[in-house]
Amino acid sequence: MAISKETRQQVRERAKYLCEYCHSSEEASAARFELDHIQPRSRGGVDTFENLALACQRCNSYRYNFTEGTNPESQVSTQLFNPRLNQWNEHFVWEQGGLVI
Ligand SMILES: [Zn+2]
Repeated sequence: MAISKETRQQVRERAKYLCEYCHSSEEASAARFELDHIQPRSRGGVDTFENLALACQRCNSYRYNFTEGTNPESQVSTQLFNPRLNQWNEHFVWEQGGLVI
């Protein structure tokens, strides 16, 4: 990992210390959040500010190296949520007063 401290800090601030995928707060998490590559390095992604997203451990490990997911019913491959390209609110709806996504 050759991501500079400055870049890490910028990514955290941009994300307001929230996981960019599930919007959980780093403060409320036992573990520090990690930087996720939106385009995985194994697929040519680079360590730039634009290609990094703050992710909690759960989201980070879930995404791992997948930029696409396959719908088990339709077998159609769809692009997973990308915090740069997609509006969060279009993908997730908070249940009223709840903590369920
Ligand atoms: Zn998360």
